[in-house]
Amino acid sequence: MKIRDILAEGKPTLSFEVFPPKTADNYETVEKAALEIARTRPAFMSVTYGAGGGTSEYTVRIASMIRDKGQVTPLAHLTCVSSTRERVRELLQELKENHIENILALRGDIPEGGRTAFDYMYASELVAEIKEAGDFCIGGACYPEGHVESASKDEDIIHLKEKVDAGCDFLTTQMFFDNNILYNFLYRIREKGITVPVIVGIMPVTNAKQITRICRMSGTYLPSRFKAIVDRFGNDPAAMKQAGIAYATDQIIDLIANGVNAVHIYSMNKSDVAERIRDSLSQIIR
Ligand code: FAD
Repeated sequence: MKIRDILAEGKPTLSFEVFPPKTADNYETVEKAALEIARTRPAFMSVTYGAGGGTSEYTVRIASMIRDKGQVTPLAHLTCVSSTRERVRELLQELKENHIENILALRGDIPEGGRTAFDYMYASELVAEIKEAGDFCIGGACYPEGHVESASKDEDIIHLKEKVDAGCDFLTTQMFFDNNILYNFLYRIREKGITVPVIVGIMPVTNAKQITRICRMSGTYLPSRFKAIVDRFGNDPAAMKQAGIAYATDQIIDLIANGVNAVHIYSMNKSDVAERIRDSLSQIIR
């Protein structure tokens, strides 16, 4: 099923992200976690591509497995920063052959040593290419606090509009820990004529180390209420996990109460976290 059709139903939905294994040795562990998450009956599940040092070769395989064994609609991520046009075309063909209808089109982070391929400068070019390649439902990434490389939020939104105009059916946000940042962002993009549905990304922070990484990579703002939780529970893994899940659940309840329908959880293959969030929202997202 196409994600744009799921979103068009206008009902609150929960979806989850998983990342593929780095090596064949980890395949079964990832499959098991993904199937456990699939059992919570999410609206869809996304599978990252080459993010966090992982490889990309398992993205299509895990996405197909989620659909065939998990009976859940998959969304395959695809990055273009290190790809040639030829490689992207091969992957699109592979996605077609595996009947994967939904693609999150991303540029990807510029590698530390610099680019090795220059066929694509920005995700908008990948979006245009996917649109030409077939009947895919295409998503793009967006950044409520502005992308780290952007000089200003306004400039980032101008480029976001170009990306949407290139053919995005929906957007998915980067994580944030203060919902007011999201509400402000939604107001600004709507004002600039970006009307596609926005799926809101929420990261349940379940250990203190994650926070350091998040701040280093994306400069995400941490509200004092969130910092107090980390200060108090950061050295107690079980307490931090419980508090992190509660914080994320609280964020989601506030989002749904304020009219946001689609929530995507950066569940990082943690099926117990996905299950706990799902259970806490059983009467809110039915
Ligand atoms: P773009 O949309 O190309 O934007 C990148 C930067 O370029 C922005 O600052 C933008 O304002 C600017 N820009 C765009 N067009 C122009 C233009 N014409 N002229 C000048 N500047 C321009 N990474 C992975 O490696 N794998 C994943 O699976 C993955 N999944 C993600 C999922 C989500 C929901 C999000 C939010 C991010 C994900 N990322 C992933 C990270 C993402 O690849 C990085 O944040 C990357 O740095 C930007 O990708 P993008 O697609 O947003 O890029």
